[in-house]
Amino acid sequence: MVFPGLAERVADVRAKIAAAVARGGHGQQVTIVAVTKTHGPEAARAAYEAGLHDVGENKVQEALKKMAAVDVPVRWHLIGHLQRNKVKALEQFVLLHSLDSPRLADAACEFGIARGRAVDVLVELNLSGEASKGGYTLSDLLPEAERLVSLSGIRVRGVMTMASFSATESQLHRTFAEAREAREELIAAGHPAEELSMGMSSDYEIAVEEGATLVRLGTILFGARDK
Ligand SMILES: *Cc1c(COP(=O)(O)O)cnc(C)c1O
Repeated sequence: MVFPGLAERVADVRAKIAAAVARGGHGQQVTIVAVTKTHGPEAARAAYEAGLHDVGENKVQEALKKMAAVDVPVRWHLIGHLQRNKVKALEQFVLLHSLDSPRLADAACEFGIARGRAVDVLVELNLSGEASKGGYTLSDLLPEAERLVSLSGIRVRGVMTMASFSATESQLHRTFAEAREAREELIAAGHPAEELSMGMSSDYEIAVEEGATLVRLGTILFGARDK
């Protein structure tokens, strides 16, 4: 077994998610996206065998290489920045979590129209104000939400955000609640935005309390990354 103890860790995380859903009171279903970046294809295979059928990668090249070596039918999620000249790679992913600019939205839309099927995306929000993180600010979101309605080649399925690593527990609650409220704005603008992708290894329980439907977990499942 390549990742010893993975099945037990998955069971533990699932129990913690169930408890967090109960505490938070949002009653949502939560999907674990197993983040396999920097690990080999065996991580995706191990995830699948442990019952995690959704796998996340943050780099397109690494993801495509891994996909070619993975023989189990996982659903691939792209969770990192996508360059506009690589939108064709979206064909291989069920969901782009990181729609982070109007220009990328236009490019993804063009690709969706060309292939005859809209691309499912989440709007990435930068709520922490950190310049190192991508995404729309809250004030950019509203006008963009209205513009995105007219882009028939993409379907805006919700919101993704990353909290600051240095945030306190109460700041994390506030950030994740803001993301939930931003999803309401997307719904009000007419988007089928039921997903909230938030929560990583260090903060997923708080994210789930605030309504997360997709948690992106790497370290807690596969151990520390050395790259
Ligand atoms: C790496 C990564 C994760 C997983 O982080 P962990 O702390 O290892 O759980 C989640 N989301 C994104 C966007 C990432 O790049």
